[in-house]
Amino acid sequence: MRLLVIEDDSAIQGFLERALMEAGYQVDTASNAKTGELRAMEGVHDAFIIDLGLPDMDGLDLIARCRAQGSTAPVLILSARRSVDERVRGLEHGGDDYLTKPFALAELLARLRNLLRRSAALQSDSAHLQVSDLRIDLLRREARRGGQILQLTPQEFSLLEYLCRNEGRVVTRTMILDHVWRMRIDPATNVVDVHIYRLRGKVDLNGFTPLIHTIRGVGYVVKYV
Ligand code: CA
Repeated sequence: MRLLVIEDDSAIQGFLERALMEAGYQVDTASNAKTGELRAMEGVHDAFIIDLGLPDMDGLDLIARCRAQGSTAPVLILSARRSVDERVRGLEHGGDDYLTKPFALAELLARLRNLLRRSAALQSDSAHLQVSDLRIDLLRREARRGGQILQLTPQEFSLLEYLCRNEGRVVTRTMILDHVWRMRIDPATNVVDVHIYRLRGKVDLNGFTPLIHTIRGVGYVVKYV
């Protein structure tokens, strides 16, 4: 596994480089966004760790530029910005996970392993998604819970697919509107909440462990707990 660390603080960069190498990763580093973007576009990395406060560009803009150029490697954002708004913005701009400084190395490694595992799972079985006993067949566009086919509208299926592709990761209403409805809808609309409500009624049936969870003030997450 090869990682790219884009971080201008040389102490943190050096610490991360050593720690990640000790954990068995190959590590490349960049100290500014311009170099980082060039390295990222080599397409050889399995994940990026990106600091938001870079000297020449905001890290969020860098992530957006990489995504626009087709990079799909997962991004772990590292930032001193701690507010919920900042974290939500990071996730909406293409970050896959967010860790605030100061961070514990053990947590960074755990989050990184999760990101790498999710992206490997996506690549190895792109025709199916599975969360606990919920199984989605992407080719047939069929979802089953405990073996029973769920009667979903196309919109509900897309919403469930999007949530399950992001298993364990919180998605905001804006992200859902962007990805599932693919159009600009007034973010104040309750269309997402209404669809989540209906979807829950079909997915989280009586006797089954609920999989769709509300993160108050932020959005939704599908996970088996
Ligand atoms: Ca910085």
